[in-house]
Amino acid sequence: MTSQAVALYVHIPYCLAKCPYCDFNSYAARVWPEDAYADALLAELAHATREGIFPRGVARSIFFGGGTPSLFAPRTIARLLDGAARELAIASDVEITLEANPGTVDEERLAGFVAAGVNRLSFGIQSFHPELLLALGRRHSVEDSLRALAAARAAGVANLSLDLIYAVPGESLDACTADVARAVDIGPEHVSAYNLTYEKGTALFRDLQEGRVDPAPEELEVAMFHLVRDRLGAAGYAQYEISNYAQPGREARHNQAYWRGTPYLGLGAGAHSFVPRDGRAVAAATSDPADGASYGTRWETLRDPNRYMESIRASGAAIASREELTRAQAMGEACWLGLRERRGLDAQQFAARFATALGDAFPHVDELLADGLVEWHEPYLRLTTQGLLVADTVFASFQ
Ligand code: SF4
Repeated sequence: MTSQAVALYVHIPYCLAKCPYCDFNSYAARVWPEDAYADALLAELAHATREGIFPRGVARSIFFGGGTPSLFAPRTIARLLDGAARELAIASDVEITLEANPGTVDEERLAGFVAAGVNRLSFGIQSFHPELLLALGRRHSVEDSLRALAAARAAGVANLSLDLIYAVPGESLDACTADVARAVDIGPEHVSAYNLTYEKGTALFRDLQEGRVDPAPEELEVAMFHLVRDRLGAAGYAQYEISNYAQPGREARHNQAYWRGTPYLGLGAGAHSFVPRDGRAVAAATSDPADGASYGTRWETLRDPNRYMESIRASGAAIASREELTRAQAMGEACWLGLRERRGLDAQQFAARFATALGDAFPHVDELLADGLVEWHEPYLRLTTQGLLVADTVFASFQ
């Protein structure tokens, strides 16, 4: 095995119900083929590492996402982690996160996840207001959330993350303030706070199109963004990415792996994987590193869980699509992913990786600087507060 750092993502696609705003690859189910699905995950991992599709590096983070991974039994999570340790080296301080929904866990179950090796729990709380949970179509209650968070602490979870959604139809600035205050009182190590988005293909998007929901006005959404940022900042949670806040040293290592171009392997239905190749490796492998050479490979697995399992049983893989990154794509991706982090994009690293200066590759950086959307904090180029509000437009300018 190499000592290269890698990240592992495990997708569990089942949920008790489909939330109307959700565009994740998740399926409402009352029963699910837990053992067969776990067999497929383990077979996919073994195939990817043994066939050289994914480097057998050192896993510094493992993330069980979904869907609702907390629906799976602790013994299944333990089995999957044992399997990961057979195929990859596991860092002694590995971060192992499991996403959980309040209402699907109790202290015994959470203690089981901890015994299996999980050391970070991420709860989809979304709001502490019953009417906002209702507007979001969430099945859990505020009491479920409070019980689950207390149970997690009682089960010995020292690293807790909590998801909040703001700009929900009907939400006032006061309600947003109260949600943030309640989160701060509970004292998780990490908070993810997202504004509600209306994704094409979701039930909520259809409701919007057909006039059944009244979205939050843009000014209110902007006010909430500032409020969340200010209140969490004042309580000691640094904004380290557009929507993510952490106490010192509690930034999600797994997310940082995505933003920093670390190789990651996504197992499960509809999961994404990426193996980068830097300019030096490309130059060593080809006489023409600028054009035509691959600067990395990414792929996605079949989204339907049954088709995914069938394909894995037949061939060990379930690839739905695969793409080789050109140099231009890899440079653009490095920029917008780097700019997601508050520290910004490391221009020195960019120059070393692509053998070209950032300003030569993207001359429009001067305009972004002049417009006050980005700023230098050597060697990092980062979004300004103004840039944060139009981050998607800034990112698109690098694509
Ligand atoms: S619980 Fe999470 S993954 Fe499942 S449908 Fe709701 S938002 Fe989507």
